Amino acid sequence: MIRRPRRLRVSKITRDLVRETRLDMKVLVYPIFVVEGENIKSEIKSMPGVYHFSIDKLDDEIEDIINHGIQNIMIFGVTHDKDACASSGFAEDGIVQRAVRKVKSLTNDLNVITDVCMCEYTDHGHCGILDDTGYVDNDRTLAVLAKIALSHAQAGADMVAPSDMMDGRVGAIRKVLDEHGFVKVGIMAYSAKFASNFYGPFRDAADSAPAFGDRKTYQMDPSNFREAMLECAYDIEEGADMIMVKPALSYLDVIRGARDRFDVPIVAYNVSGEYSMIKLAISQGLLNEEAMYEAVMSIKRAGADIIITYFAKDLVRYIGSY
Ligand SMILES: [Zn+2]
Repeated sequence: MIRRPRRLRVSKITRDLVRETRLDMKVLVYPIFVVEGENIKSEIKSMPGVYHFSIDKLDDEIEDIINHGIQNIMIFGVTHDKDACASSGFAEDGIVQRAVRKVKSLTNDLNVITDVCMCEYTDHGHCGILDDTGYVDNDRTLAVLAKIALSHAQAGADMVAPSDMMDGRVGAIRKVLDEHGFVKVGIMAYSAKFASNFYGPFRDAADSAPAFGDRKTYQMDPSNFREAMLECAYDIEEGADMIMVKPALSYLDVIRGARDRFDVPIVAYNVSGEYSMIKLAISQGLLNEEAMYEAVMSIKRAGADIIITYFAKDLVRYIGSY
């Protein structure tokens, strides 16, 4: 007897019936870059279709996001106000704090997640406080991260997402949030964040490239799977509500590993390099537009529950019709 798996591919209706992985706008998180200034909506050169917005231009953008069916956004702040200890990161009138307040004044229909790190606010571009040798001092950095997270919660963030990869930061942030009564503010931990070459376009977008050296003393070696599982386990122990793997497409095995081991929601960050590669290939006619859907769907198939992706708006064209 010939086995005939093709029987289940015979028509679109049959294929729809047996589809194993479906994307849903409700599980996508759309990143937004907010800049200082007024009347700014400018496309980020290295990320076609992604823009810098000044706060006064957020009205239209938030409406557009909601019209696409997106329910979750992640806010990144871009500022020229930088110093050695990232003071603008936890200022009440900091860029992210003002952006969160603005979004919350416009709508209650969005889950507002904020990126918590120091690199966007330090003049040296590293994700923490440096010691005399230029090494990031882990334990002194924790206090600053907790202050940044608290200031985001005070501005109205629903969830904070520490992306620095310092040891112990999830616990430090949870403690400070709880002490100030923000027990409902969740922590989406960048648990397995690799020192990846796929972040290039983001560093342009966020003006956060390190002024010297690299981030290999805190972000993970791309070769290490088991260490990624340890990082996830520690973050869960410290109180992370969700754990993240970043990047996504070159790390599908890590996403699958986390899915198999842990029962908290798994987030995957489909990063800027992954986005720009596909976008540029589409614009050159090298790939079909559907490649966007296939890439993001593969992240879901690998085991991610939630996907942070710059493709979120584009995907509305496929989700539902697929
Ligand atoms: Zn950082």
